[in-house]
Amino acid sequence: MQNLRKSVAEISGRPGGYQDLRVKTSLTGVFVGLSEITDAPVRATLRAESVMEGILVTGRLRASASSQCARCLRDVASNVDLDICELFAASGHEPPGGQDPYRVDGLEIDLEPMLRDALGLALPLRALCRQDCPGLCARCGQDLADASCDCAQDEPDPRWAALDSLRKELESRPGRTATG
Ligand SMILES: [Zn+2]
Ligand SMILES: [Zn+2]
Repeated sequence: MQNLRKSVAEISGRPGGYQDLRVKTSLTGVFVGLSEITDAPVRATLRAESVMEGILVTGRLRASASSQCARCLRDVASNVDLDICELFAASGHEPPGGQDPYRVDGLEIDLEPMLRDALGLALPLRALCRQDCPGLCARCGQDLADASCDCAQDEPDPRWAALDSLRKELESRPGRTATG
């Protein structure tokens, strides 16, 4: 894996100074629900810019994700493509709002936690292989995109069928009437 700790010694404390950073690395273990970042390289084209509060990192991040369809569990491949804009706070600069920011660590910034967070937020929570995926039959598990099944929609609910047979059984019992 590429070292994602980047020196900002050249620009640190010189507001207006910037440097471009290119990242190409695999980041495994980023997943949300049924989606995860594949081990194909994550690519980012970033600019680190020295600002009063620290180092502002902006740019673009691309990766590929693989998910399972929330209805039929087929594999779904997708691309993640997002804009990055994150502040790495210099020591002594607490950002307003009390969020816990990324921090400039000495003369370095560590891009890895920021990239992992951004990728995690970009993953689909609920992927579908296609918008009208019919999913699996709740009774027999047949993938309804491939074929219909024999579980007709108007078949009686199995819970009613059980009550029905109970009623028949009670009716057929002899001798339990009020006449006794
Ligand atoms: Zn599906
Ligand atoms: Zn079925």
